[in-house]
Amino acid sequence: MILATSARARVYLDYNASAPLRPVARAAMEATLDLQGNASSVHGEGRAVRAVIEDARRQIAALLGAEPKNLIFVSGATEAANLALTPFLRDKTGGCEVLLAGAGEHPCVLSGHGFASERFFEAPLGPQGVIDLAALERLLAAAPGRPMLALQAANNETGAIQPMRLAADIVHARNGIVVCDAVQWAGRGPCDLKALGADALLISSHKLGGPKGAGALALADGLYFERGLIRGGGQERGARGGTENALAIAGFAAAAREAFVTCNRQSLELADMRDRMEATLQAGLPDIEIFSANTARLPNTSAFAVPGLAAETLLMALDLEGIAVSSGSACSSGKVRPSHVLASMGVQDHISRCALRISLGWASQPGDIDRFCETFQRTVSRMLARRTHPVAGI
Ligand code: PLP
Repeated sequence: MILATSARARVYLDYNASAPLRPVARAAMEATLDLQGNASSVHGEGRAVRAVIEDARRQIAALLGAEPKNLIFVSGATEAANLALTPFLRDKTGGCEVLLAGAGEHPCVLSGHGFASERFFEAPLGPQGVIDLAALERLLAAAPGRPMLALQAANNETGAIQPMRLAADIVHARNGIVVCDAVQWAGRGPCDLKALGADALLISSHKLGGPKGAGALALADGLYFERGLIRGGGQERGARGGTENALAIAGFAAAAREAFVTCNRQSLELADMRDRMEATLQAGLPDIEIFSANTARLPNTSAFAVPGLAAETLLMALDLEGIAVSSGSACSSGKVRPSHVLASMGVQDHISRCALRISLGWASQPGDIDRFCETFQRTVSRMLARRTHPVAGI
């Protein structure tokens, strides 16, 4: 019996944290594995590695609507944010003096930027997790210098989609620079510089089904770095020193290509599964709260809370049953903190502590949702029964 349970395949519902490796990415990396040169070397071995990197650069730049010369490979989106969100990103007018960021941005934006604290301002979100454009206008009017805006195309916790184009127009009217964190949007919607109205955008390989350890920063023509983040041998046009990770870059390009090409069909399929899951849960749990349900959301993401049922307990119970989901709270130094995203939407701490997120992706199947719903409902019933009939001494 126990053997039968443990032999059951696990259900992975945490694509927003990291997606499983796509077979095309694995194949691209396997083809690169035995290339032994350094891309900076002029001999044949070096040139073979350089060719892999430049081919990947051309492919990813084309997907993002950038010139290949304006695409910088980095280790991931966190590094891209640390690189881009500084006064050293410049155009013909110079750099920016003030950074504005949506309050629900990823920590790599909120704490990874290079502006002094008195030159950094958070733009509030409304109750659906969407940036308040009137408040953004007010912040811009009061900004003590040329502004840069950091705004994510879609939120990793709730899936809420931001009005990127509108926000970008407002910032451009004040001669600002717009940096878009497109990590969760890439492969799930039109993701090029023009479609997003952005001057720079960052994406991450492992969210697309590529390997961990690669990401890209795409710049519009005319933008450049006065100073890079990692100084060394001058790689990546001086923006990022260090021998390039050709293996990961090759896998990244293959995954990105497949994710972008299959985006429309996949988004419809995932939205269907996600909506069916939400309808099933709502039918059995009338007090379930689904976050950002009344705004445009990523097709693959659902964040919800059953008031009174702690997310950590649910998460561990589901994990024991072979299902991987994520909680809305962040755990660092052994202390569980409620999500800053939900807090910025006005969600109270006691609800936020019950927030779970499921996120689907390229290998998700309708059967995963069936198993999740069945297991979730059984787990919740057990927890509620324990609460109604507490066992003496516990
Ligand atoms: N931005 C968003 C919206 C994310 O969801 C994440 C990862 O969770 C990041 C940035 C950081 O990406 P990476 O893991 O590539 O550093």
